[in-house]
Amino acid sequence: NMNDNTRIDTQAIQAIDGAHYLHPFTDNQALGKKGARVMVKGEGIYVWDSEGHKILDGMSGLWCVNVGYGRKELADAAYKQLLEMPYYNSFFQTTNIPAAQLAKLLTEVTPPQFNHVFFSGSGSEGNDTVVRMVRRYWDLLEQPQRKVIISRHNAYHGSTMCGASLGGMSGMHAQGDLPIPNITHIEQPYWYENGRDMDPDAFGIKAAGWLEAKILEVGPEKVAAFIGEPVQGAGGVIIPPKTYWPEIQRICDKYGILLVSDEVICGFGRLGEWWGCEKFGYKPDLMTFAKGVTSGYVPLGGVMVGDRVANVLLEKGGEFNHGYTYSGHPVACAVAIENIDIIRREHLVEKVREETGPYLKEKFEALADHPLVGIAETCGLVAGLVLVKDKKTLEAFDSALEVGMVCRGHMFGNGMIMRAVGDRMIIAPPLVITRAQIDEMVALIRLCLDKTY
Ligand code: PLP
Repeated sequence: NMNDNTRIDTQAIQAIDGAHYLHPFTDNQALGKKGARVMVKGEGIYVWDSEGHKILDGMSGLWCVNVGYGRKELADAAYKQLLEMPYYNSFFQTTNIPAAQLAKLLTEVTPPQFNHVFFSGSGSEGNDTVVRMVRRYWDLLEQPQRKVIISRHNAYHGSTMCGASLGGMSGMHAQGDLPIPNITHIEQPYWYENGRDMDPDAFGIKAAGWLEAKILEVGPEKVAAFIGEPVQGAGGVIIPPKTYWPEIQRICDKYGILLVSDEVICGFGRLGEWWGCEKFGYKPDLMTFAKGVTSGYVPLGGVMVGDRVANVLLEKGGEFNHGYTYSGHPVACAVAIENIDIIRREHLVEKVREETGPYLKEKFEALADHPLVGIAETCGLVAGLVLVKDKKTLEAFDSALEVGMVCRGHMFGNGMIMRAVGDRMIIAPPLVITRAQIDEMVALIRLCLDKTY
């Protein structure tokens, strides 16, 4: 019984939580006074809190629970591996069975240029690996001056020093003296904010042009790589015009710069293809993944290393002085293997592409008729809408985040999780969501918009 909360003393948990647990990205003093919501159970696309409230998780946790909650197959895979060989890594010429098998499996579900993988424990660590690997690559090619990595404002690439430096979140840069040297940013391909006076496809070309301008400003011989999320997730589900990525690819090719796709959110079917780069038609040299690789059940991340880079590292590299205690963790890899098997046997990528993605598009974009909504857009199973003060001019609220937080509050109160990012409200539901559940979710969004209006 999901509502059996008789054994949970919510206030006692909140008290020790408030006293001792510093939550990430949280004003902990404010949270301590209010008390964190205690989440106790998940099943399918729903989660339950300790007070028995059933909540539709429109965010898949943090964009990761792609196959939904309560999957016994994943628990079994972990249990079996935990009993057999819970951990082994030495960095000294050993391997384990799930890590080797997952490495092969990943090369099967990624584009053909990928035949190697480097494992990490998270997306942030994956991007730290990218920074070191990219610079190592250019050192080995005797172009050590190529150190600069170009990223974008409002990008999110993680919370480690490299991840937060690659990211373009000013609030993060302001804490901890970031970015680290030789990382620079260009403006994001956000039509609503940066190109509303233009046709979106023309804007896509213009926004990609900012990369070329930056390359020329830095000096092409100094640029090592460009990194981007196919669709910016944490930045607010910023979906680029379709012209953007092919033009980015052309510019990277022109200057011989490595192209890195951060697929931590977009990978494993979120956009209706296995990878965001497949959806948008570009061919990265490196790809960061995490989240959806295990549907978040256990931590795992990594970098898919394309042949262009792998061949240099293998042939000229010798030892790459880099690795994590949990690189290739057998339990995480065993769960990932089963998770990928679920995605395949339940045809989740095809389902998003052909059924639930188009259905969400139809239902979610219809929210644009609401007086509070400027634009509402989707890409596979991510979606975002802009809250506007004036529908005609698309003028934003002065305190857009406050309005978003009010809206988010109504969401929680009415049994749904949706995230507020500035003036945008965003969702990324589990890939197992059904049409009927999409109807339920969109009806809840409309209800909360009505209450916010
Ligand atoms: N890259 C992207 C695109 C992400 O969205 C995230 C997390 O949200 C990360 C990297 C960092 O991953 P992690 O939180 O697993 O370190």
